Amino acid sequence: MPDNLFDDANSASSARPTRDAWAALKLGLRGRCPACGKGKILSGYLTVNPTCPVCHEEFFHHRADDFPPYITIFVVGHILGATMFAVDETWPDLPMAIHFVVWPTLVIALSLFLLPIFKSGLIAYQWALRMHGFETAHVPPNCSFEPRKPLPRPSVA
Ligand SMILES: [Zn+2]
Repeated sequence: MPDNLFDDANSASSARPTRDAWAALKLGLRGRCPACGKGKILSGYLTVNPTCPVCHEEFFHHRADDFPPYITIFVVGHILGATMFAVDETWPDLPMAIHFVVWPTLVIALSLFLLPIFKSGLIAYQWALRMHGFETAHVPPNCSFEPRKPLPRPSVA
């Protein structure tokens, strides 16, 4: 078994510059392109830009799939589950009608708030680890965090 699982999987890319996964994740959680830090990863609520509008980094390689909803459910469940127990311990005689209004509203609002954040963060993380199609994507020759110039358009004769 290799010491680093990623070494074996990425042996063809050993000459490629290493990408800072933590920096990419921080930019992604803010919805920013992990390559330039300026363009937006998402063009709509959950719609992914095919490429960065600023540096043209390719995002269409992402395979976010079901992980953003999964991590959203995990986080929201832990935050609001603990909060529900704390509220019930603190105010045990709170009318049930308040529980029926407050908790579903908070679950929906927090989930809708966190879902796009986690989705763009995951895409940036996949980019940093060169997962899926990001492995074979066009890579600038110098630094992975340098803004990328637009690819030349093919001339139509
Ligand atoms: Zn960019």
